[in-house]
Amino acid sequence: MPDWFRRPAPAAVPEGAFTKCTKCGAILYTKDFERDFKVCNKCGHHHRLSADERIAMTADEGSFVEFGRRDIRALDFLQFPGYGDKLTGAESAEENARTDGLVTGVATISGHPCVLAVSDFEWGRLAGTMGSVFGEKFARAADRALEEQSALITFCASGGARMQEGLTSLMQMAKTSLSVAQLDKARVPYIVVLTNPSTGGAVASYASLGDVIYAEPGATVGLSGERVAAQAQSVKPPANYRTAEFMEEHGQVDKIVARKELTTMLAKTLAFLGS
Ligand SMILES: [Zn+2]
Repeated sequence: MPDWFRRPAPAAVPEGAFTKCTKCGAILYTKDFERDFKVCNKCGHHHRLSADERIAMTADEGSFVEFGRRDIRALDFLQFPGYGDKLTGAESAEENARTDGLVTGVATISGHPCVLAVSDFEWGRLAGTMGSVFGEKFARAADRALEEQSALITFCASGGARMQEGLTSLMQMAKTSLSVAQLDKARVPYIVVLTNPSTGGAVASYASLGDVIYAEPGATVGLSGERVAAQAQSVKPPANYRTAEFMEEHGQVDKIVARKELTTMLAKTLAFLGS
């Protein structure tokens, strides 16, 4: 066959050049997607961020100093099937990997000092759940906020309590709530940002106790999963009842803030609260 009938070979698309929106299916330039902090520029869906990505977009560059990356680690005291492997896998994923998904440290936001406690939903494939190490790290972060009289800001992304630690995980609800109460008593501001998803024991404790509670658009916010709710309730709940928007409408969330405006909003809040 003459050469001029042949189709030219398609130009190779560099790997990772495009990202598909998990909500609307739009194909986005990864460069644009990253620039937009992983928000789809077609439908506005806020994709999940890792704790490191969240800190990078929130804290002033170079200001974040992390507390105890590997100081404490969870014990698999129930010998829960698969839990030990998940912990070991996440702890040894890279050199100096963390021993829990909650990342804590001091930082500044537009020059305002604060303490950050950021959940990483993906860590150990444990859905940002709250176990004994999470509770202890949260309490230590709150202690530091007390010491320095600077606001504590938490970003919640959690499936709730960590069932692999049984009752001990439920105790963290009381422990984190007590830390928040101490901040309240000392009049140290506590700010919560609910991201997708914020559910279960997290919402039943520290994530509902903020002096100010912000949420990202479209985030799932609620106590129980849809299946559990369907079984437990004789009355059918409204379709959107587990969303940040519903919570805002009913006074459980102060304001829904788009991701690109969140850092400015936090800076304004810190300035207003005198942190
Ligand atoms: Zn989209």
